[in-house]
Amino acid sequence: MSFGQSTVLGYPRIGGNRELKKAVEAYWTGRIDAPELQSTAAGLRAEVWQTLRNARLDAIPSNTFSFYDHVLDTAVAVGAVPERFARLGLSELDTYFAMARGVDAEPALELTKWFDTNYHYLVPEIDAGTLFAAFPVKALQEYAEAKALGIETRPVLVGPATFLLLAKGDDPFARLDELVLVYADILRQLAKAGVEWVQLDEPAYAADRTPEQIAALREAYTKLGRLDQRPRIFVATYFGSLGDALPALLDTPVEALGVDLVTGADNLAGLAAAGPLRGKTIVAGLVDGHNIWRTDLRAAVTAGATVAGLADHVAVSTSCSLLHVPVDLSVETRLDPGLYARLAFARQKVDEVVLLGKALRDGTAHLPAPLPAAPASWHNASVRERLAALTPADRQRGNYDDRAAAQQQRLDLPELPTTTIGSFPQTTSLRQARAALRAGSLDAEGYADLMRAEVERVIRLQEELGLDVLVHGEPERNDMVQYFGEQLDGFAATDRGWVQSYGSRCVRPPIIYGDVARQAPMTVEWSTFAQSLTERAVKGMLTGPVTILAWSFVRTDQPLSHTADQVALALRDETVDLEAAGLKVIQVDEPALRETLPLRKADQPAYLDWAVGSFRLATSGVADDTQIHTHLCYSEFGEVITAIDALDADVTSIEASRSKMEVLDDLAAIGYGRGVGPGVWDIHSPRVPSHDEVVESLRRAVAAVPARRLWVNPDCGLKTRGYPEVEASLKRLVAAAAEIRNS
Ligand code: GLN
Ligand code: ZN
Repeated sequence: MSFGQSTVLGYPRIGGNRELKKAVEAYWTGRIDAPELQSTAAGLRAEVWQTLRNARLDAIPSNTFSFYDHVLDTAVAVGAVPERFARLGLSELDTYFAMARGVDAEPALELTKWFDTNYHYLVPEIDAGTLFAAFPVKALQEYAEAKALGIETRPVLVGPATFLLLAKGDDPFARLDELVLVYADILRQLAKAGVEWVQLDEPAYAADRTPEQIAALREAYTKLGRLDQRPRIFVATYFGSLGDALPALLDTPVEALGVDLVTGADNLAGLAAAGPLRGKTIVAGLVDGHNIWRTDLRAAVTAGATVAGLADHVAVSTSCSLLHVPVDLSVETRLDPGLYARLAFARQKVDEVVLLGKALRDGTAHLPAPLPAAPASWHNASVRERLAALTPADRQRGNYDDRAAAQQQRLDLPELPTTTIGSFPQTTSLRQARAALRAGSLDAEGYADLMRAEVERVIRLQEELGLDVLVHGEPERNDMVQYFGEQLDGFAATDRGWVQSYGSRCVRPPIIYGDVARQAPMTVEWSTFAQSLTERAVKGMLTGPVTILAWSFVRTDQPLSHTADQVALALRDETVDLEAAGLKVIQVDEPALRETLPLRKADQPAYLDWAVGSFRLATSGVADDTQIHTHLCYSEFGEVITAIDALDADVTSIEASRSKMEVLDDLAAIGYGRGVGPGVWDIHSPRVPSHDEVVESLRRAVAAVPARRLWVNPDCGLKTRGYPEVEASLKRLVAAAAEIRNS
């Protein structure tokens, strides 16, 4: 019952061709039934286990499959199905999907980012009515399924402390003792089924935790460790350094502890400081589970050997679940060979883990040769020179009052100007046009004609609706990051590099491998065309450097700040070109500003510093009378509110409707004094807000912000909405603005 030499903390569950996405969506629309969905799922699970076994991985995880989300799976396993879903009387599977997606009468559980990744989990709802009870049906079933294939596996669950720290409700963490009893019951049931090892994930301890929370963690695992009927326990941690939680966990009777040695560099020192780790297996996370570069195997062996000198036993693993990287590099036939040679997706990372496990035991003689230096063509001397020559003045615009006056003179906008965030609905015909272009049945010229027609339609619609600042609607963009990645040097796109974002939603992040440079204007033609159609101002529309980095796989051979500044320079050239082409307003979206915020407070100032700096570099090349907008969404902004101010945008549009305009108070509290457009229409649902609702939101906004600085807009772009609700809602928005203006 040794742990073995090699393992992974989890593996992608979507399938190499997104089979799970297709099956789940087919089930949702009624095209397949539950047994058919279950059989596709079982096939995908079997494929993963067999892949891992054939790769000669020693310790294979199970229960890493999920129809939607592993946090939701854990909620079900501990009986935390909220009453509002339980009472719907649906089948188990449909209750599960109701929690994930909502049904007519019940909104879904809240969706939130999984630590600092692009994965989103469903937030468990814990209240007085939650009666925890062990219900590990899925874990038991997956274990038995693998066993029937002759594969011994290690069921994985989110650990009790992290589960409660991720939950919402009235102090869920206070219920840890009670939940630990339920985990004890789960462990008993697993042991009875023959399970040898179980993995409990506690990534929440890679973030700042109070001494009480750390003491509670120690107590929880001490109790679980003392059970007499249980599998061996492997506590997995990831996404950073454990700090004081490391000695606390080492002090418990758990047999194995997993530490991230990729992003948690201090964990090595923490292990050394803890002294000889008798009776413990340390699972060394040496292969990056969160990025797509090949591992420096020699450096990893050295780190692994250090751990081996401290613990009774060391096993090699990925730094976190491989959920966050694409499935298999070998299907990518169109990547540059120099780049291909440097990449490893999930399947390739398993091989690295196995190789490292062997090298730790048998020496490094059989490791493949190290990679040669990156090709010279990846470096761009002129970009590097430009970066080296930057001064603080390159990140500084003129005084805001002068800017505001110059812009008002040029734009002549009414009080409470109305606008939208950029995209208009991506209709079926737009998607068909893109598919036809890809398939070759539509040429570039024909595609551009269709897109121009769409831009014209969207401009006319906005004029009819009476919006003040117009957008071109972004019909030509597949995705707000990919679109720029396809045009910039230093970026590569994959064909099938899909990664789960949430539920059945997958994204295909571009790879930033070299110096970033703009070959030619990227958006100027579309924006100028749109502007040529109307007397009103059209907003140029760009994605900001932080968001481009956050939604890409980024090179690790230089600091993120350098890469961000390279992207910023390309965007700066674009803003200058847009300005020269006659655009008076330019929006640079930074929806991901909050999401890449480091987990530990101590690391946050440095991040915000370069993040803000890169935005300012991108936006300060224009004249005072060009109005820069930014847009933020997807989060609570409390922790980054001063950074939002520091962006120095003339206008900030920000998600606010669900939080009832609270963000305006936060902005007022720090003395934010420029334009702001709090979202007054929640575009995440097809619901059309009533006239009174919009008026009410605006009244609240006017109370917090002087009318001359207030903009009226939706929460976010409209690309996922349909035209009927878009037209109806925007009509309301314009009418409500007029009512407040005239009152
Ligand atoms: N301009 C983008 C749009 O309107 C912004 C999207 C976003 O914030 N995620 O779609
Ligand atoms: Zn948005």
